[in-house]
Amino acid sequence: MSDPLDQLPPMVAEAIRVGLAFAASGGSPLTTIANEIAQAVIDSRAPQERVEMRPAYNWTCPECGRDNFQRSILAEASDEDLHEHGIEPGDPEIGAWQTYPRRVTCEHCEREFEAMGFGQDNEEDEPC
Ligand SMILES: [Zn+2]
Repeated sequence: MSDPLDQLPPMVAEAIRVGLAFAASGGSPLTTIANEIAQAVIDSRAPQERVEMRPAYNWTCPECGRDNFQRSILAEASDEDLHEHGIEPGDPEIGAWQTYPRRVTCEHCEREFEAMGFGQDNEEDEPC
């Protein structure tokens, strides 16, 4: 005779098997089954691929007030370069070296602006 659980979707059958095993030791099978199914659904919806996050800049257009996102320019540094600056290669505390473009254009109203660093005010000289 075949197992009636074999007629169910594998995820549900497995949850019921875990619930029945838990019931055999005096636990509540329904709670266990519900938890197992919920976890299986959560797991099945988890993204399967990973993407690398790159740092980016965002700025607010003074003309139209809308936010823009700007790719950063990431610098590659060799182990020798890092050592020269007193940094141990592979140190997880060290982030990426990034810089921003000199000019940016609002993607909404197409007005162009000169870029300045975070915390820098208009009176200061532009970065070298
Ligand atoms: Zn704008």
